[in-house]
Amino acid sequence: MIHAIKGMNDLLDDDALIYEKIIKTCEEVAKTYGYSYIEVPHLEVTPLFKRSVGESSDIVGKEMYEFLDKSGDSVCLRPEGTAGVVRAFIEHKMDKAGVVKRWFYHGSMFRYEKPQRGRYREFHQFGLECFNIANVYEDASVIMILAKIFKKLDINYTLKINSLGSPECLQNYRKALREYIANIENSSGFKFCADCAKRIQTNVIRVLDCKNDECAKHLINAPKLSEFLDDESRADFIKLQEILKDNEISFVIDERLVRGLDYYSKTAFEFESSEIGAKAAIAGGGRYDYLVEYLGGAKSYGVGFAMGVERVMDILRSKNIEQKLQNTYFCILDEELLPIAYKLVDNLRENGKTINLNYEAKKLAKHLNIANKQNYKYFIAIGSDEASKNEVFFKDLESGEQKSIKYDELKEIL
Ligand code: AMP
Repeated sequence: MIHAIKGMNDLLDDDALIYEKIIKTCEEVAKTYGYSYIEVPHLEVTPLFKRSVGESSDIVGKEMYEFLDKSGDSVCLRPEGTAGVVRAFIEHKMDKAGVVKRWFYHGSMFRYEKPQRGRYREFHQFGLECFNIANVYEDASVIMILAKIFKKLDINYTLKINSLGSPECLQNYRKALREYIANIENSSGFKFCADCAKRIQTNVIRVLDCKNDECAKHLINAPKLSEFLDDESRADFIKLQEILKDNEISFVIDERLVRGLDYYSKTAFEFESSEIGAKAAIAGGGRYDYLVEYLGGAKSYGVGFAMGVERVMDILRSKNIEQKLQNTYFCILDEELLPIAYKLVDNLRENGKTINLNYEAKKLAKHLNIANKQNYKYFIAIGSDEASKNEVFFKDLESGEQKSIKYDELKEIL
């Protein structure tokens, strides 16, 4: 038997309903903020991710589904959504026109991670990106969008925020952090873990993200990024906090929040939930004012987020959300009534009604049994007696009410 690839899952039945509900909620909220749908390819050239996500990140370092295609080009299944959207923004020359663009996307991302609960090799993100707005109000808006989505889905969260400052601040901070680490290693003999050793070489701020307790313990007195912020970044960070407070969005400042991708500047944030066991990130994002330029475009501001759909699904599943009833089960009691039933059902579908027609004639009790088992809301049967009077037998399976109904009254009832 052929199985799905490890860490890649089918999405069906109740899970598919939860998935649809999440995406619909996200889309509805994002649209109210002026965001519109964009679709970009799942496969892109590898350098796009190497350059944007960054060589120091775990994604590029360890997790990319990267291979040579039949013409020998190095391509990669997208591990995240921002890089492709930025590429599209540049390719369609919107960077040159300096236009404001707000786009949302959703779909599969691929990372070769160790599969476990909430961590898969193919997973889905809902994300959005806004280009060419420097104002920190937009940073607040992308956070507010997530807060509204989680409110609508009834999900509790902790919002963590931080500011990474400008590339210059980060450069000074990196230098100070590297010196601090060298000092610790020289004076105490403690050696940071192998992952940190690599991070120290490639992007030292990522040691702040290390989950190893010993590394974390030795970083307690490390210099703080907030001490290195330039005036503009500091002012924006203060403003962001004011806007969030003004709009009743609670947050905590987490100076260790650096995010796993290399392209952020100024605002960085993460939404965490403890509703699925250990605290897990359910969404994250921030500002990336240098990424467009870095990928060959004209200087353009950027801010956005990505939300992990599977993690949100896990939370909703654990809440046992009410199983959605299927709409209508339509059936025949005599075989020769199928053409009439088929036409009637088609007419109702034209009126937007969702109906499943069972093509097989069976006894009423058998049909009722199937409809009840499959969780239908309405039951409609047509037998010879009913057909002779242009009527059907109708039952509301929720309330138990049953009656005969004329064909042309059906569309009002369903
Ligand atoms: P990132 O693109 O790494 O900032 O991730 C954004 C969100 O995607 C995270 O907050 C998670 O909720 C989710 N996520 C990241 N990696 C995975 C994964 N391997 N499996 C499931 N969800 C993930």
